[in-house]
Amino acid sequence: TLGSHVAVLERASRSRSTDPLLVLADRTYSCADVLAHSSRVASLLVSVGVQRGDRVVIILPTVPESVWAWLGTNICGGIDAPLSPDVSGVMLDYYLQDLEPRAVVGTREALERVARSAFVPDFAVVVGAWDGSPWAGPRVQHVHIDDDNAGTSPHQRPEEGSPSDDEVATILYTSGTTGPSKGVMLSRGYYTEMAVSHLRAVPLARGAKAYCAQPLHHVDARSMVVDCLVAQATLVLAERFSASGFWADVERHDVDVFYFIGTMLHLIHLQPDRESEQTMRRRIGIGSAVPAAIHASFQKRFNVALVEGYGMTEAPFMTSQTLECSSPGNVGHPLDSIEARLVDHQDQDVRGHQVGELVIRPKRPHVMMLGYWRKPEATEASMRDGWFHTGDLMRRREDGSLVYVGRRKDSIRRRGENVSAWEVEQIALRHPSVCEAAAFGVPSPLGEEDVAMLLVPAEDQVIDVEQLHRHLGEHLPRFAVPRFLEVVDSLPKTPSERVAKGAVRERGLTSRA
Ligand code: ATP
Ligand code: MG
Repeated sequence: TLGSHVAVLERASRSRSTDPLLVLADRTYSCADVLAHSSRVASLLVSVGVQRGDRVVIILPTVPESVWAWLGTNICGGIDAPLSPDVSGVMLDYYLQDLEPRAVVGTREALERVARSAFVPDFAVVVGAWDGSPWAGPRVQHVHIDDDNAGTSPHQRPEEGSPSDDEVATILYTSGTTGPSKGVMLSRGYYTEMAVSHLRAVPLARGAKAYCAQPLHHVDARSMVVDCLVAQATLVLAERFSASGFWADVERHDVDVFYFIGTMLHLIHLQPDRESEQTMRRRIGIGSAVPAAIHASFQKRFNVALVEGYGMTEAPFMTSQTLECSSPGNVGHPLDSIEARLVDHQDQDVRGHQVGELVIRPKRPHVMMLGYWRKPEATEASMRDGWFHTGDLMRRREDGSLVYVGRRKDSIRRRGENVSAWEVEQIALRHPSVCEAAAFGVPSPLGEEDVAMLLVPAEDQVIDVEQLHRHLGEHLPRFAVPRFLEVVDSLPKTPSERVAKGAVRERGLTSRA
């Protein structure tokens, strides 16, 4: 194996020190630059008492220091836990209580939010301007990092006691779609092992340029950094995603590959036509959940080959598939780093094309989580007989590829039939008047559940409920057509902008007409 991402970075900064690895905020950082900056942050963290296994919370937007804080924590043997830059209030309390971090790295503004929390860590490392004014938390000490000078010398790794690849490197929180978000422990061996497996499925040429506008507190953007490190490619990290500026950015940096999430494709597709569209060279887009409505037209219109993947925080890359000859929902074949089965409620394999829960077993070390942080019951519930239960329902096609059907928790039992909320939502979203949809089960007077759905109208559109009901009836089996439709202004969201299904179910329907 390659060893941890820290080991690979150290080797790269010796053998190909000037190779550009990252482009961020219009600056290019070579492998050696990345190691130097990160090592300074490592010494800074050691100087405030961070030891092997200590948690370091990172609350930063996509700035260079966000990468240095991640790698710096791992260099000194700590566990980094990146949170959304907007995190505040009860959610912030929840994470800080769960993690008991030794230090927090953040902007002044984020650190002020931390200071108001009931669970203030001992040390705060400030990124950016700070006038030195103290805050409420009495035990907090401020340390400052700048881009070029962290004020200390590069970190010297201790001779003995270096952490092994089996120890925890990172805790990432799940989106919290189905309930409270859980801390996922990824090992120090994870990043490179996954990069190798990912690159086997979707190769990245040496010297290629990749583009990513996803935030660094998600596993995707971090994996892209390490994919590029291992492939000897360069990653352009955008500070934020902008649909109107997307193609200009891609052309300015001469990008070969970009990484997306489904909503990004949607937003890019909504942009007016561009003159250069037809003449653009072919590029590759890699990401998850390609919206059905734009499945075919996006590739043609922009001359982009899309590769859809399926994964989750616990096992970030499980399948992948080029969309050339695929259909919506088809997430492709399992990567060769895992074994995959589809099982029923008794953990027995389903037959033929029946729907079952995807369970996986790693074939290589480190390709999935070590477990949930401080939630042994949740870890035990998902790991049974060595198989990790994803909670996602799939169907297998003749060629062995998998079709995503929805979440097990999101399936609605209607008089003996299982209705996938996801499938119902996909049909609703095909209607031009609908912008967002959330289907769920409500108790039925006849026993089991009835299908209900909340709908948010598209901009400047009015949802005609009867017309929409007809549209659903045309595309769904009778039993899956919602009995209750309700138009709302907005849906409850998770911090990562997914519809919070738990909260939707709790809210229920306002009227039952
Ligand atoms: P929580 O586990 O806290 O409820 P979450 O599952 O939404 O939150 P993530 O780990 O960010 O948190 O998301 C993983 C989920 O995203 C998968 O379980 C799956 O349901 C969905 N998903 C991933 N890839 C795809 C895809 N290609 N198409 C459709 N859905 C996908
Ligand atoms: Mg999940």
